[in-house]
Amino acid sequence: MALSGITDTIGRTIEGLAQPFSDPVIRLGVTGLSRAGKTVFITALVANLMDRGRMPALRAAAEGRILSAFLQPQPDDTVPRFDYEAHLAALTGPEPHWPESTRAVSELRLSFRLREAGLLGSVRGPRTLHLDIVDYPGEWLLDLGLIGRGYGDWAAEVLGRIAGRAEAAGYLAALQGVEGAAPHDEAVARRLAEAFAQYLRAARAAGYSDCTPGRFLLPGELAGSPALTFAPLPGGAAPRGTLRREMERRFDAYKEKVVKPFFRDHFARIDRQVVLVDALGAIHAGPKAVEDMRAAMTEILAAFRPGKVGWLMGLLGVRRVERILFAATKADHLHHSQHMRLTAIMAALVREAKDRADFAGADTAAMSIAALRATVEETVSHEGRTLDAVRGRLLETGREATFYAGELPQNPAEILAPARQGASGWLDADYRVMGFAPARLRLKPGEGPPHIRLDRAAEFLIGDRL
Ligand code: GDP
Repeated sequence: MALSGITDTIGRTIEGLAQPFSDPVIRLGVTGLSRAGKTVFITALVANLMDRGRMPALRAAAEGRILSAFLQPQPDDTVPRFDYEAHLAALTGPEPHWPESTRAVSELRLSFRLREAGLLGSVRGPRTLHLDIVDYPGEWLLDLGLIGRGYGDWAAEVLGRIAGRAEAAGYLAALQGVEGAAPHDEAVARRLAEAFAQYLRAARAAGYSDCTPGRFLLPGELAGSPALTFAPLPGGAAPRGTLRREMERRFDAYKEKVVKPFFRDHFARIDRQVVLVDALGAIHAGPKAVEDMRAAMTEILAAFRPGKVGWLMGLLGVRRVERILFAATKADHLHHSQHMRLTAIMAALVREAKDRADFAGADTAAMSIAALRATVEETVSHEGRTLDAVRGRLLETGREATFYAGELPQNPAEILAPARQGASGWLDADYRVMGFAPARLRLKPGEGPPHIRLDRAAEFLIGDRL
């Protein structure tokens, strides 16, 4: 592996050198756990970069320096294209609905024709900049934590962690009577792997974020392959030919043949990164889900710093990410008066990871955004109080409703501390998140779909290169 890692890196460097005069490219990674909002984010971002009427905070757009923005064939022939047109049609068609979520890695190239600022603009002709957007599941980043570990170590930790979880009851029952030291039996391995995957799906649905191996949740084309047919077994090392030894071998294959290639081929070349977080969804699910999300974010973010995994990243040819944006998504569930609080919670969620290392000098920022604004704000009176609420079309019934999500605390510690202490519910607050359907839109020419702070997000991520 080490050798092929090195030769791949060299190969890529030479390939890069072969075209020294080609137009500059920024690779923007978009990640986040499943349902965080990646698909909607990319679709809305691209639509608003092509029609920039709602992008005042993107300086190049406000100053009229973006002459045009258009989609082009992407450079990587073997990566699926992000299905922009289908997703946009879902969001902005006559019967708007949310698009299919990210299941695997995909890519899209948006190219800009740009005029230089100031005097240079009148001397030089327009230049071209390509923005390659790479969409990939955050679950796959969690797998980075597996690379340095052995099977026994991993299995023991997982079993310890899930012991008290109701969602794991099925898997733990499936383990009953299974002997790691018994001869390997494919039917048993399959049954256990399926039960473990079922646990991971249930845990995910319950709001837990520590759901690795990531491909068990989003297997892509690997579904059913031996590299995905293993599960954590209790007990110690076992000799060749046993169930446990085979599990161990597959765990290693998963790391070598699934995890490492992803990092080498996709992750390695990212310049700018946005990490989307459904912080509101976790708060809604309760303290356990928040604590879990915090832990998962810390693990995910380990991928963006050297140190523990630096040697590996070096071998895989990982380059430094220059900017990382942490964005709390779906902020349109809240009245804007609460957005700063959501941003503070977002920042607090990633603080530990950030404090441990400075992300190797990357610029970072936290924001609350809504890639597609599905609501309007409304102030209502309720039991003698006025509430800053939002109004939208409910996903379940299709009816319009006014909705108050509860008041987020000013101090993020009021969310994070009970979460850390393992509280079972919020003390004196009730947070609700309701599903809104995308609103029916009547877009004027030159206007992209409505959003909250997508222009600021774009300015932070790529504004300096436009
Ligand atoms: P992915 O799994 O990260 O690709 O997540 P999606 O982009 O598919 O988003 C998951 C779900 O979150 C969507 O189906 C919507 O219900 C919701 N969602 C995503 N972005 C927004 C947003 O900006 N506003 C609102 N109200 N809901 C959103």
